[in-house]
Amino acid sequence: MPATSLGTVLDGIDAVLVTVEARTSFDVPAGGCRVIGLPDAAVKEGVLRMRMGAGPILGDLPFKEGYGTLLNLAPADVRKAGRGLDLPLAIAYCAHVLKYPEERLGGFLFLGEIALSGDVRPVTGAFGAALLAKRFRLALCCAPENLDEARLVEGPPIYPVRTLPDALAVLRGEGVLDAGPRGVRAAVSTPATRIDLSEVKGQWTARRALETAAAGGHNILLEGPPGSGKSLLARRLTTILPALAEGEALESARIHAALKPLDPARFRDPPFRSPHHLSTPVSLVGGGHPVRPGEISLAHRGVLFLDELPEFPREALEVLREPMEERVVHLSRGGRSRTLPADALIVAAMNPCPCGHYGAGDGRCRCTPQAALRYRGRLSGPLLERFDLRVRLRAVEARDLVESPAGESSADVAARVREARRRQNERQGDVNARLADARIVEVCGLSSDDVRWHRTQIEQLALSARAARRLLRVARTLADMAGEIRVGKKQLAEAASYRLGEQGAGD
Ligand SMILES: [Zn+2]
Repeated sequence: MPATSLGTVLDGIDAVLVTVEARTSFDVPAGGCRVIGLPDAAVKEGVLRMRMGAGPILGDLPFKEGYGTLLNLAPADVRKAGRGLDLPLAIAYCAHVLKYPEERLGGFLFLGEIALSGDVRPVTGAFGAALLAKRFRLALCCAPENLDEARLVEGPPIYPVRTLPDALAVLRGEGVLDAGPRGVRAAVSTPATRIDLSEVKGQWTARRALETAAAGGHNILLEGPPGSGKSLLARRLTTILPALAEGEALESARIHAALKPLDPARFRDPPFRSPHHLSTPVSLVGGGHPVRPGEISLAHRGVLFLDELPEFPREALEVLREPMEERVVHLSRGGRSRTLPADALIVAAMNPCPCGHYGAGDGRCRCTPQAALRYRGRLSGPLLERFDLRVRLRAVEARDLVESPAGESSADVAARVREARRRQNERQGDVNARLADARIVEVCGLSSDDVRWHRTQIEQLALSARAARRLLRVARTLADMAGEIRVGKKQLAEAASYRLGEQGAGD
């Protein structure tokens, strides 16, 4: 009698349902087992593991019967990778040999590695499996160590199982349901982060720009000599962003859970990613085989920090242009195309020249003006244009470091950011950086005098249409931070000050 069980494997960032079918086969040696349906090496080894683990349960039954068992994995066109299929393979195999009634098997999704002792071990992908179980109205059966992650999904019943006999007991209706908290309630409250904006002294302009970036979701480029606090500031951007809404947290978790177990304590935290400048285009935007999300997708709903921006290979930066505009990544591989979420706030930092001290006036820079220009020239115009806020930082004087009071704390700034975001959400349901082109002029509500003034501004700064729209978005955010209903000259002028250096030269 054939037996089927349900398991799951990851395909990119998505968990896909896998049906394991166990059938009698005279092509397989008596008492033996063979798996087909695009299994990778780990899945093939899983058959050996689970047979050993099932040994004490089945005894010499498979050999007495005088036939072998063929295990078929469907859908046949999806590559099956990883150790999470051990448990569904074992369940189908045992149910086949022990002749379990079929109707008991269909309601469960099994996930886990099986040790030679028959113990069930945790694997990566419990969050995706729980989402899948919810979608297909199945109960999830997994290792207790996977519970924290699976509980983050509201909905499916979960049976934690320590051993293969435990899992078979669940099928007999003798399992124990997990009664722990579910959904966002399962995310333990986050302990205070150790870094804080109060550690940054001085740098008022840059702090203001950082707050603006957080308030409106604008990309920001910090330029300044080493020691001016660029990366100190950039690394504190997530400390002033609001906690993720439940939907956002789920989107982010789905991407991260495909790579490693989730930390429930970090569930509501906006992610922060800081790839090295030697990163390849694939590691930045994703790809490969099997498909892996890139840094920009891992930073989805959070922050992607690109330190030493001009040091990134040009082709790596150019591949970021499309996701910076569209907020998704399109990947195509083997005739299949996929779209991964990639809505990250990008903060970048750079030195003004190869040595870092250009323009400081202290004689330390030995770079020629041409060398400094060439350095900046590594960044294309269209890439620079996508940074709504560009700020130059001066080196912090030693005296400032000693005498300046501590800066404002992250909590105080975050409260203002939340308030500015609330205004945007009430008006348009999203942050200004994501506002549709067609609506920008309308939500700015410029007076006719200010419209004329803005036109002069566009001419003087030689802004492209795209850059002008970006300037208005920033002005709208500045008005939201000030609680103003309409955008005025004050906000237009400040927004323009963040676009200086558009052509990449001059100081
Ligand atoms: Zn220099």
